[in-house]
Amino acid sequence: MGSKMVLKVFNTLGRKKEEFIPVNPGEVRIYVCGPTVYDYIHIGNARAFVVADVVRRYLRYKGFKVKYVSNITDIDDKIINRARELGISTQELAETYSNAYLEDIAKLNIERPDVMPRATQHIPEMIEAIERLIEKGYAYVVDGDVYFDISKFKDYGKLSGNRAEALEMGARIEVNPKKKNPADFALWKSRKPGEPGWHSPWGKGRPGWHIECSTMAQKYLGETIDIHMGGKDLIFPHHENEIAQAEALTGKPFVKYWLHNEWLTVEGEKMSKSLGNFVTVRDALKICSPVVLRFFLISAHYRSPLDFNRAALKTAERNLERLVRALERLNSIPEREDRTVEDEKLILKVEAEKRKFEEAMDDDFNTPLAISALFSMARLINSYADENKTIERTAKLRVLKVFVDLLGVLGVKWAADKRETRTDELFKGVLELLIDVRNELRRMKKWEIADHIRDELRKMGIILEDAGKETKWTIKREDA
Ligand code: AMP
Ligand code: ZN
Repeated sequence: MGSKMVLKVFNTLGRKKEEFIPVNPGEVRIYVCGPTVYDYIHIGNARAFVVADVVRRYLRYKGFKVKYVSNITDIDDKIINRARELGISTQELAETYSNAYLEDIAKLNIERPDVMPRATQHIPEMIEAIERLIEKGYAYVVDGDVYFDISKFKDYGKLSGNRAEALEMGARIEVNPKKKNPADFALWKSRKPGEPGWHSPWGKGRPGWHIECSTMAQKYLGETIDIHMGGKDLIFPHHENEIAQAEALTGKPFVKYWLHNEWLTVEGEKMSKSLGNFVTVRDALKICSPVVLRFFLISAHYRSPLDFNRAALKTAERNLERLVRALERLNSIPEREDRTVEDEKLILKVEAEKRKFEEAMDDDFNTPLAISALFSMARLINSYADENKTIERTAKLRVLKVFVDLLGVLGVKWAADKRETRTDELFKGVLELLIDVRNELRRMKKWEIADHIRDELRKMGIILEDAGKETKWTIKREDA
């Protein structure tokens, strides 16, 4: 299964494409910064999660065993402020929006992470990491706060290019008289009145955002992990600080490959909460189906900006339909037993497109190029169907399998197309109408026809249960 070709990834650390070689052969450990759950996720956030999901799926397709960890940040300033505004606890707020996040990613067919650690459930580990950083001389305590001393970590700035010296002069960073260096960052924040807090050797407080991620990443994936992902805003300071913390603790490289996605934009500007130009996944799904939204989100290379607008969504929808229609067309060609030269040619050409798909994905996950190989496949299928009335059965299966497997790498389920749900709804409507008619017949004491309807439905696996005036229906499962 999968291609034997070399996978290259663009590593933010070093800013060049490199051959991907995992720490342990055959095994890939990925950490993806998850959401801060103070509101619904927007489609910019969704882009980051869909991109990471495609990376995960492609690595698995190539035969790697993948362990994928993505956290939930359930305590931070935004959560505290929002909970206060709403007059509810931070736990309640975080619970609501982490459930909403799980629903949203499920709709987008983003696979659940193997581990989804929550910050508030790892406070003891974070405290321990901070204590060790203090012991080793990388951190200092001031009035119940703990700061990381960036002057002690010589590699500070290696990811973002923001060296400590430059930061000292940098005017962007607020001057805090407690800090030795303006760019030192908080590992532990003392509790302010009205805020939640946990006991620690430095008094009540809460961890900083950066120590949350590096601690949970190392707990579940080990000291050196293969891939760490997130949007490019996380390069600095978040990921720079994660490196400082983790490498100060272990003396080993924290992450081999750092991958960062570009912005999802609106009229060229980053989609963000603060700019107010955001569209939640929920709202987007009111104007398009989940599979179209997903297909749109992977229609650009992850390191290129992608602009969100209705026309772009429409294009994604049309393009996806072209692929689905070709698949359906192939599926409906009548089968025969003997294989022709035309069948052989189709298989060879489809296999060649499959290799193009793999080459594109091996080149730093170039999804638009990979998708263009799928369009070529669709064209091959269409011209085959134009010229042939039948197809040999195993040739058909082979081509269908290649196509569906590659769509699966992109996380596009063709059976989950919106038409499917429309048929579901239609089915329910028709069945309920039939049940109403049957109940009317029973009221008229036309038992024979009423029973006939029930028996025929039962043969199809639909079980009706009469309870007084109400009738419930269930579908008998095949394995029941
Ligand atoms: P947050 O909950 O703000 O930490 O964001 C979750 C993920 O979404 C992070 O990886 C961010 O970098 C990413 N992200 C936020 N806005 C955008 C955007 N407009 N385009 C792409 N990724 C984004
Ligand atoms: Zn993170």
